[in-house]
Amino acid sequence: PFDMLVVGGGPAGAASAIYAARKGIRTGVVAERFGGQVLDTMAIENFISVSYTEGPKLAVALEQHVRDYEVDIMNLQRATKLVPASEPGGLVGVELENGATLLARSVILSTGARWRQMNVPGEEQYRNKGVAYCPHCDGPLYKGKRVAVIGGGNSGVEAAIDLAGIVAHVTLVEFDSKLRADEVLQRKLRSLPNVEIIVSGQTTEVLGDGSKVTGIVVKDRNSGASRTVGLEGVFVQIGLLPNTEWLKGTLELSKHGEIVIDDRGATSVPGVFAAGDATTVPYKQIVIAMGAGSTAALSAFDHLIRTSAP
Ligand code: FAD
Repeated sequence: PFDMLVVGGGPAGAASAIYAARKGIRTGVVAERFGGQVLDTMAIENFISVSYTEGPKLAVALEQHVRDYEVDIMNLQRATKLVPASEPGGLVGVELENGATLLARSVILSTGARWRQMNVPGEEQYRNKGVAYCPHCDGPLYKGKRVAVIGGGNSGVEAAIDLAGIVAHVTLVEFDSKLRADEVLQRKLRSLPNVEIIVSGQTTEVLGDGSKVTGIVVKDRNSGASRTVGLEGVFVQIGLLPNTEWLKGTLELSKHGEIVIDDRGATSVPGVFAAGDATTVPYKQIVIAMGAGSTAALSAFDHLIRTSAP
């Protein structure tokens, strides 16, 4: 069995694996797609101490760093079930889609998350070419430009307030007849001079010139009339979905499906720790996921030295 098995090969999982391997214990990483969301990212300008890098390049560096150590990387493998230990200090099982079961004395879950998409024409084509999902990441790229934020929940309204301080103009589009964000956020949003709010608005298309976004089409759900909003960027804020469906019923998840962890990264199941975007950690970012992955590995190691036979 592994001493530490990491499920997920994004920034959180890579950090966990490196911290674990450096303790000289038997470490494995099972990942559906090593690199995680970083593979889908273009410019990264907030990876502290690196002014600029690109996702695919960072993903290669993550894997190289892990491969500096004796880590068993099982890429292109999907975990489908977690089986808690039957006794304190016992082995935890991770079942894979291919039928195999991996056993480990401690497990770190770092399966990340995915942004809910609008699924409208143009969204996929212009991803990273005007269609963005992370205001903390890509906001500054739109300095002085016009953007839309899709979604009037807390994250959409927070994004619109944040972006209004950077860009020239923000159009916030909410599908429902009213915003769903906290009242205090809505008040703040309405006080901003460069924000237009559209409610009962359905974004039906992202328009572009072949290489970048030029606008969106918004349909008024009451009248049925469509209008085109000219702009350079669209931030889609209609939900971040943690990749935790496979864990339902085995450990505590929040109402958003995030793995509930404490300050040390411990989950509700003994010997099972978690880190990164799949968890209740506030803010989903690369440096935060890496820090959380390191925390989870150190906590799992602490668990091992307390439960192992002398
Ligand atoms: P992820 O990166 O999501 O990795 C999850 C890993 O788990 C993957 O290897 C995946 O294949 C694997 N996995 C999932 N389910 C299973 C399963 N059942 N079995 C096995 N493996 C599984 N952050 C920044 O800090 N700066 C940026 O500029 C930035 N830009 C971004 C741009 C885009 C387009 C996106 C989508 C995100 C961006 N982010 C950015 C956010 C950042 O990518 C995430 O916060 C970070 O990758 C989270 O790391 P993670 O390890 O928790 O999860």
